[in-house]
Amino acid sequence: MSEQKLYYPPEALVKNAAVSGMDHYRRLCEEAERDYEGYWANHARNLLTWKKPFTQVLDESNAPFFKWFADGVLNASYNCLDRHVEAGKGDRVAIIFESDDGQVTKVTYAELLKRVAQFANALKALGVKKGDRVVIYLPMGVEGVVAMQACARIGATHSVVFGGFSAQALKDRIQDAGAKVVVTSDGQFRGGKQLPLKAIVDEAIGMGGCDTVEKVIVNKRTGMAINWVEGRDLWWSDAIAGQSDVCEPEWVEAEHPLFLLYTSGSTGKPKGVQHSTGGYLTHAALTMLWTFDYKPEDIFWCTADIGWITGHTYVCYGPLAVGATQVVFEGVPTYPDASRFWRMIEAHKVSIFYTAPTAIRALIKASESNPDVHPKRFDLSSLRILGSVGEPINPAAWEWYYREVGGERCPIVDTWWQTETGGHMITPLPGATPLVPGSCTLPFPGIQAAVVDETGNEVPWGQGGFLVIKKPWPSMIRTIWGDPERFKKSYYPADFQGKLYLAGDGAIRDPETGYFTITGRIDDVLNVSGHRMGTMEIESALVAHELVAEAAVVGRPDEVTGEAIVAFVVLTRPRPEGEEAAQIVKELQNWVAKEIGPIAKPKEIRFGDNLPKTRSGKIMRRLLRQLAKGEEITQDTSTLENPAILEQLKG
Ligand code: ATP
Ligand code: MG
Repeated sequence: MSEQKLYYPPEALVKNAAVSGMDHYRRLCEEAERDYEGYWANHARNLLTWKKPFTQVLDESNAPFFKWFADGVLNASYNCLDRHVEAGKGDRVAIIFESDDGQVTKVTYAELLKRVAQFANALKALGVKKGDRVVIYLPMGVEGVVAMQACARIGATHSVVFGGFSAQALKDRIQDAGAKVVVTSDGQFRGGKQLPLKAIVDEAIGMGGCDTVEKVIVNKRTGMAINWVEGRDLWWSDAIAGQSDVCEPEWVEAEHPLFLLYTSGSTGKPKGVQHSTGGYLTHAALTMLWTFDYKPEDIFWCTADIGWITGHTYVCYGPLAVGATQVVFEGVPTYPDASRFWRMIEAHKVSIFYTAPTAIRALIKASESNPDVHPKRFDLSSLRILGSVGEPINPAAWEWYYREVGGERCPIVDTWWQTETGGHMITPLPGATPLVPGSCTLPFPGIQAAVVDETGNEVPWGQGGFLVIKKPWPSMIRTIWGDPERFKKSYYPADFQGKLYLAGDGAIRDPETGYFTITGRIDDVLNVSGHRMGTMEIESALVAHELVAEAAVVGRPDEVTGEAIVAFVVLTRPRPEGEEAAQIVKELQNWVAKEIGPIAKPKEIRFGDNLPKTRSGKIMRRLLRQLAKGEEITQDTSTLENPAILEQLKG
């Protein structure tokens, strides 16, 4: 990696950046190192408005159940809305909403506050109190943000369930959270289609075990026919009718659970991650200012759904906490065609754009076969910063994103973080960090990341190992809802004396720069004839071949080599068969041997029209491992997007 080209931020950006240059970055890291608690306390004080200031900072007395700013009192919704309106910024646009069919609606901070307050009053009228759980099962839209903020306003803990999830997945989450109210809509528009939501809520509750649910609030979105349960169901419009648009926030202690959110399920059964109010919001705001270098002139657009942590921190909370104007998008990147993102950036003059590698790869593939959807056909000159999240971004996709979307002038912040971390952990800062494609570079100032071996000892740079965080940080997971034992076992394992946060990802640091590269999930490390390899390296090599659009690599037990490499590949052309397939297999095997070395050559390559992915677009390698072994799938597939693909990928 060391010999790779570095990409430096443009001078003008460095000059005005919140974190300006590497010396500034290092000073911030040193400051945090010198006085860890003082550093975070300063940020929490400066970035948030507290009803009652805190005097305690980090409380480690019940480790690993850490507390931050515990005697402070605040309200997240107040911090996201009221204080901007009170500061005279009520007329500022908070949300530019673009619907699936391209209609644009703008909502100011003053209007958003009224809508949130009114819906908060509606929830209160239904008996929702501080600490009650509300499940939100809504499409992307203003109502989703309103519902989340309204819960925060009254101290109810929301649990957003992605609108693409099945009745079973929804039922599990309603039940696990013990939700009192479910907020949904009749249906949703997605890619020109109408899809039901209320019907899925009915089915989920009909499965039994959701006895805690007293009310289902239904927003009218599509106008499609739905069933109605008298006494339980009520329209959103009826719920808010007659409710005041003023609502005094419920002031909560900093540790009050703002929300529960289930992880994507890439590596196992989803975990109900519980987040705090004060610590979470501090980091959401700080990362907006530093990772995205957010300035009042910016138009921010994070494409993530509110059903994922990225949509929580960088749609619902972070942008609003700093008073930003942001785009909220209902649709999909490929409808009406694969130029949708570029058209929207052009139309709304987006300056900070944050999306996932899976979307980038799909759009690269689309633009190869259709020049009309290529980003260079659009005026993207408003862009100044690009971001990536969710998966490692392979260098080929990174370079395309940098060149074709960013015009070689926009730094890409490749942000490594997790549902559990609440906000960015390892990421470039756009006005400071020289970039290396495929590396998330260095820890955010104040985050102490390391790569360790099985016993928790740091390994030398250049050697792969487990990615850990050495000190608790404000926006960290507080527990797994209802399962503190699983929290301890998953994140503070005894192997590390309960002292290190285990991320579950493998990483390696560059021998010279110390830059981090994520090598994949811990379970994804391969051992071929005694050589340890991350799956990502092989996948990146495969994707660098012009015929390959996407690739996933897993290991399969092998008598001779210990583990054999099996690659699942999606080509940029239709799925080949017979002689053609055999030839491409040979070509790709030789390619990998040449790119990495013969040891990394896949023993078997299977072609598919797609790969099994979570609904957030991540490849589910655990299912591929079973397929590679020729086993039936016995694992949790509740968050799988495209179950039909499994059949095609069987050997
Ligand atoms: P589960 O924990 O249920 O298996 P998940 O880990 O996919 O699901 P998320 O919290 O949504 O659930 O995803 C976090 C993971 O995504 C990280 O642990 C990492 O593997 C991956 N990831 C996120 N951002 C990046 C990035 N910039 N580079 C590399 N990997 C990333
Ligand atoms: Mg995870």
